[in-house]
Amino acid sequence: MHSALTNTSLHPLTLDGSTGEGGGQILRTGLALAMVTGRPLHITRIRAGRPKPGLMRQHLACVQAAVAVCGGQAEGAELGSQTLLFTPGAVRAGDYRFQIATAGSCLLVLQTVLPALMLADGESRVQLSGGTHNPMAPPFDFLERAFAPLVRRLGVGLDLQLQRRGFYPAGGGELLAHITPAALPLTPVDVLERGPLQDAWGEALVPGLARNIATRELDALGQRMGWTFESGRLRQPPTRQNEGPGNALIATLEYEHITEVFCQLGERGLSAEQVAKRLVDEVRDYQRSAGALGPHLADQWMLPLALAVWRSGRAARYTCTEVTQHTATNAQTIARGLPVRVQITPVDKAMLVEIS
Ligand code: ATP
Repeated sequence: MHSALTNTSLHPLTLDGSTGEGGGQILRTGLALAMVTGRPLHITRIRAGRPKPGLMRQHLACVQAAVAVCGGQAEGAELGSQTLLFTPGAVRAGDYRFQIATAGSCLLVLQTVLPALMLADGESRVQLSGGTHNPMAPPFDFLERAFAPLVRRLGVGLDLQLQRRGFYPAGGGELLAHITPAALPLTPVDVLERGPLQDAWGEALVPGLARNIATRELDALGQRMGWTFESGRLRQPPTRQNEGPGNALIATLEYEHITEVFCQLGERGLSAEQVAKRLVDEVRDYQRSAGALGPHLADQWMLPLALAVWRSGRAARYTCTEVTQHTATNAQTIARGLPVRVQITPVDKAMLVEIS
């Protein structure tokens, strides 16, 4: 499978950025695919349907990070640009530092470069600053507890250290990612069932805000989930100096084969009780299904797993609770950029994703 793509490595991967979900994800997946295959990426109509189309600072930071890790070139890497031609060079393991202005998400930048660095020929340390808990982006806790353990199961070393939380809009978060590539080939894994529930808890982060916001959120969460402070299932982790202001309410469900993390951010005009209700609704949706991966993990797990399938030549599967537009779009984008097939079919109380 690997050699099949090498033969076509000079054909650019062309993507219409407005298809499917039509947001920043197609760009990030496209950049990652270009870096791992060596094919140039030509993407047009970037975020065309969004109120502010084209590259925003957050997306530009991803392009710049991609350029840095492979010594690539990018034409059209400007704010507002709807077209980008990215020509990757050879991926270089090493130490990198990326600062994402205006509290853009550190985690989305990390996800852009992770596929390339996890296939590189040495270890990398990536220091990121910006937002660690942003709306519409994976929060740090999700990456650490839900996403990273899956990546490690492929044989990759992925260690994440949170040095300071950064909430939108102030930012100021810091994290360090230590990536150790697998001894090739990567080992694809099937994740079809959750297994028995081993632990479940909720935590409220309120740096720089009144502590009673956390207490009210946790009380409301505890009442609905049957969790108490005494049992250790409701927690208020300590905050670090200069963190915040910001608020996140997080639920972690640890099963034998998968850990899922759900997060709701507090916002002005939304009561603590409403934040808790939104989180409980998310958890209940997950619990109603038999799928192993929740909606966000399902779209984010697809690329690392597809790389393992490509490199090893062995098929792999997972079940998820639903197929969001992000998941469907990632499936299409990955199948265009790698010599793999992605099939999604309904099964009993879940969706099955097969990559071959
Ligand atoms: P846009 O073009 O819409 O501004 P964007 O670049 O900000 O896009 P999206 O393309 O929407 O971002 O992708 C957001 C990513 O963040 C998706 O992979 C999604 O699964 C993930 N995500 C969003 N919320 C969460 C969450 N609560 N937990 C985990 N992952 C999340």
